Amino acid sequence: MEIPKSHPRYLSLTTREKLVKGVREGLAVLEGLIAHGRGEAFDYILGEKSHDFALEAERAAVALMKLAEHPVISVNGNAASLVAEELVELSKTLNAPLEVNIFHYSKERVEKIAKKLEEFGGTVYYRGDAVLEGIDHARRIVDSRGILKADVVLVPLEDGDRCEILKKHGKKVIAIDLNPLSRTARMADITIVNNITRAIPEMIKFAKEITKEEAKEVLRNYDNKTVLKRAIEAIREHLTKMAEDVMNA
Ligand code: ATP
Ligand code: MG
Repeated sequence: MEIPKSHPRYLSLTTREKLVKGVREGLAVLEGLIAHGRGEAFDYILGEKSHDFALEAERAAVALMKLAEHPVISVNGNAASLVAEELVELSKTLNAPLEVNIFHYSKERVEKIAKKLEEFGGTVYYRGDAVLEGIDHARRIVDSRGILKADVVLVPLEDGDRCEILKKHGKKVIAIDLNPLSRTARMADITIVNNITRAIPEMIKFAKEITKEEAKEVLRNYDNKTVLKRAIEAIREHLTKMAEDVMNA
């Protein structure tokens, strides 16, 4: 189906198409479509834009990865369907390898996601030769060169459980999640409340600019609790404005 550029929801619809294609190609699973729908709903009530608190968190995330010893970017089916090429660019800019990590495990799907990232020139770990103790689904399987030894992990679209386990293993966690109320959002050290399709390109830009000195300064001033609070308030403010618009129409 061809979506006309003039369609008022063009961006949202093309993003959906990417995900549907991802499912057809075996990168993403049906459950991923549901997760995306929840994300879309939050994006809608946030006004579908990158807020200042999101940009601040993105900058802090880049800073943390820049200063990390072993930063790793975890990639699932949705992330690979939506922003594979951009994730590879971020990975190269920050010298942070990619690791495939999926909730609904199949070896075939892991390999498909890895292949897609490799096609764009990414360094991808997916050996699955180590285990993160304390978690009982497939996501416990990690790569000894990647997440196992990582000190900072970027987990776009992660579930709360896994985030918790990563933290228990002493890792700093950066989450990208449009839902500021989710367990993931509240658990992460840095929470980027933004659509992954906007967040990753913005992070690439920050990663290209920032120096180590600036990174330290950014982290000194960063407070994730305030960022989460501002995200929740942004929803409230947007809804208040929408309510006024209804009355003024
Ligand atoms: P919890 O974190 O509370 O355990 P959950 O993990 O059960 O929640 P899921 O539906 O499994 O929630 O996770 C999907 C999350 O990813 C949702 O919170 C949704 O807002 C977010 N999400 C989905 N698509 C995107 C996207 N394109 N960009 C950013 N976030 C997204
Ligand atoms: Mg979640």
